[in-house]
Amino acid sequence: FLQGKRALITGSTSGIGLAVARALKAEGADVVLCGLGEPDAIAALCEQLGAVHVAGDLSRRDGVEAVMAGAGQVDILVNNAGMQHVAPIEDFPVDKWDKIIALNLTAAFDTSRLAVPHMKAAGWGRIIQVASAHSLTASPYKSAYVAAKHGLAGLTKTLALELATHNITANCISPGYVWTPLVENQIPDTMQARAMTREQVINDVMLVRQPTRKFVQPADIGAMAVFLCRDEANNMNGANISMDGGWTAE
Ligand code: NAD
Repeated sequence: FLQGKRALITGSTSGIGLAVARALKAEGADVVLCGLGEPDAIAALCEQLGAVHVAGDLSRRDGVEAVMAGAGQVDILVNNAGMQHVAPIEDFPVDKWDKIIALNLTAAFDTSRLAVPHMKAAGWGRIIQVASAHSLTASPYKSAYVAAKHGLAGLTKTLALELATHNITANCISPGYVWTPLVENQIPDTMQARAMTREQVINDVMLVRQPTRKFVQPADIGAMAVFLCRDEANNMNGANISMDGGWTAE
């Protein structure tokens, strides 16, 4: 049902973004990938998906602008690119703070600002943020990530109000722990910050937060993104949809 719609999914060379790209493609959207990686691997991914890739560092404003220029007129914007860093506040590297705020929050402001004129002209649009349970609640040692994701949720509510009469919706999907490279890569730092083993981090830090005691699957998030593009979701606007096994219900 998405034939003729162009979807840009940021951070779609890996993990959740790739699953969202696959799901939108399966519904007929023209998919534009964006993310880091080996050129050969990205070319293979484009071939496999029937997608194109635009390169750019989304932690820089000029990078975001280059990506938006390369992506063309976007009907479905999925702001998914993000990174994490785990450290106590007094040791938190200031360059990591700057980069996480830039990539996880400011990039979504810039992509939205640049995508909205076409959506308004087309009379239809979808802005979907891959936020996090950490847009609603906090965990220690994740100051930059939690601040950026709370900011992203606020930005999304504002977009929802501004664009409501233009048939453009803006919503957050907020996963708990999804097994992707982003999660796997934070295990060593969390082991150090909390003096724990790998198994303790997985079971006592991560899955302990999710009452289902199961990781969320990337494809589940793809399915929710597809639903948000349907006409039945016309009145879902400014929502922050938790997919966290019950974490934020506690
Ligand atoms: P991932 O590390 O597998 O993928 C991140 C993607 O972002 C990759 O495609 C990477 O190339 C891209 N990226 C990173 N830095 C970039 C940059 N400077 N410019 C352009 N692209 C860049 O991570 P993931 O787990 O799939 O996470 C995707 C999103 O989901 C993030 O916003 C993350 O915060 C959010 N999220 C993840 C989880 C989880 O448990 N994995 C939970 C909640 C929210």
